[in-house]
Amino acid sequence: TDFKALGLSERVLHSVEANGYEKPTPIQAAAIPAVLEGHDIMGLAQTGTGKTAAFGLPLIDKLLADSRRPFPKSCRALILAPTRELANQITTSLRGFVKRSRLQIATVVGGQSINAQIRDLHAGKDILVATPGRLIDLMERKAIILAQTRFLVLDEADQMLDLGFIHSLRTIAKALPSERQTLLFSATMPKEIESLSKTYLNDPVRVEV
Ligand code: AMP
Repeated sequence: TDFKALGLSERVLHSVEANGYEKPTPIQAAAIPAVLEGHDIMGLAQTGTGKTAAFGLPLIDKLLADSRRPFPKSCRALILAPTRELANQITTSLRGFVKRSRLQIATVVGGQSINAQIRDLHAGKDILVATPGRLIDLMERKAIILAQTRFLVLDEADQMLDLGFIHSLRTIAKALPSERQTLLFSATMPKEIESLSKTYLNDPVRVEV
């Protein structure tokens, strides 16, 4: 397979090429068409398999296809990651794909000034990458409102559960509309992840690498 066969728009294909990606990894080949078709995804994949682009490219494609701007204090897509390091890494990868587009990306993680984050969120963002603890804090301060967020990505979901974020995940998921697309990625599939996927995914396509 090559990227052209996956259904991505010309614009996104250009940025894939500009990033030096020549061939999709197996998880990209499996996940990208399914995400573009609007399916929820249950992805079993380790880091290093290319999962960031597997959810990031079709997400960016969908956000570019819909010219609506984010409302103030909202985000159009939310990506949750267990650690600051992973959140920052995801943002860096996504920035590589949205160069020369109008899409606005922000990262909110602990250990940094919450007031700066509150100001940054004020205008609204296309993509928000967050760790659960800091996001909850921002929700409680009404700095972010998730009622219009139609895309949710849970990256390294097993790690988030191991770090004790289950209650935060439930609070966050409840704040999003039920009519949304949810993509869950996990390196392992313990029964807690199975149960999370039963609660939050709607007829998911399973992707394993
Ligand atoms: P990830 O698993 O998303 O953390 O990606 C691991 C590394 O592989 C990152 O450095 C990516 O930039 C790179 N990568 C992801 N997909 C591709 C691809 N299709 N071709 C070449 N490199 C890739």
